[in-house]
Amino acid sequence: MTMTIEQLISGVQKKLDVRVDGRAGPETWGAIHARIVGPARGGLTPVDERSERNIATLLPEVRPIARALVQKAAQAGIRIKVISALRTYAEQDALYAQGRTRPGRKVTNARGGWSNHNFGIAFDVGVFEGAAYLRESVKYKAVGALGMDLGLEWGGSWKTLVDQPHFQLRPAWAEDMPEREMLAGLRARVADGAPVYA
Ligand SMILES: [Zn+2]
Repeated sequence: MTMTIEQLISGVQKKLDVRVDGRAGPETWGAIHARIVGPARGGLTPVDERSERNIATLLPEVRPIARALVQKAAQAGIRIKVISALRTYAEQDALYAQGRTRPGRKVTNARGGWSNHNFGIAFDVGVFEGAAYLRESVKYKAVGALGMDLGLEWGGSWKTLVDQPHFQLRPAWAEDMPEREMLAGLRARVADGAPVYA
């Protein structure tokens, strides 16, 4: 008797006690990864408190991957923390106002609903040396490579508006989609109460 790949994945999901649907999403891959390389590297073990506070605001599909990135970086001798994750539309609008209708320097070109941070699929990391946060460091590039290994999209690889601290987990339906189109899809899903990763 031969097994289809769906049956195989369902079997693994049942065994690992994750949602059984025969489709390997990030949660299943995270669990498989944890089982193979050990829980300390698998993204299921909590990381530092500040990162965890931010990771908790991400969609469940993204959380194990964000943790895995913190853990993989630590194994490579690089200390990072997740320093920013979900921003509500209102928080994004307030950020957008900075340097425009409010004092301060411009920090974003995205209004509410126009940033991947508004959907729980994106997060920013900070590199630390001891207690010091490094806004710029060559280490961001190394972390970027680790993130892409985990299937994350890295802001440092963008052609315009290079954003080295930024990572996001692109939904499968948005693969190869221009950013603008993906954001429109995300806004529509949120407006409809539809799941982002379905
Ligand atoms: Zn970001």
